Amino acid sequence: MNKKRIALIAHDGKKQQMVEWARANAEALKNFELCGTGNTSRRVAEATGLNVKSYLSGPLGGDQQIGAHVAEGSVDAIIFLCDPLTAQPHDPDVRALLRIAVVYDVPIATNISTADCIIKNL
Ligand code: PGA
Repeated sequence: MNKKRIALIAHDGKKQQMVEWARANAEALKNFELCGTGNTSRRVAEATGLNVKSYLSGPLGGDQQIGAHVAEGSVDAIIFLCDPLTAQPHDPDVRALLRIAVVYDVPIATNISTADCIIKNL
């Protein structure tokens, strides 16, 4: 059976949290195909040794690339640790990704508690 696919995205203020979460869940994450925005995917790959397919950096279109995969049905869940305390230059892309995940009923975790629920239940 094909592995399910998880996309990982973390804003700068949340990257360390993403790295720690990925380390703590590295065994479970081995069972998935992983992808992510540029810097997030690189940081997670370095920290865990897992293979994480890299898209563009979020502000340069990475969120939109992942959104396109959601629309095509090739992403099964998104862990999107967004920073609620910092303005993002690519806020329209962030909102578009949240919207397209709702449209296609793809689980999207925007905090660690929800990420834990998804990884345990996917
Ligand atoms: P990054 O993008 O992983 O390339 O930093 C994440 C974002 O800010 O959307």
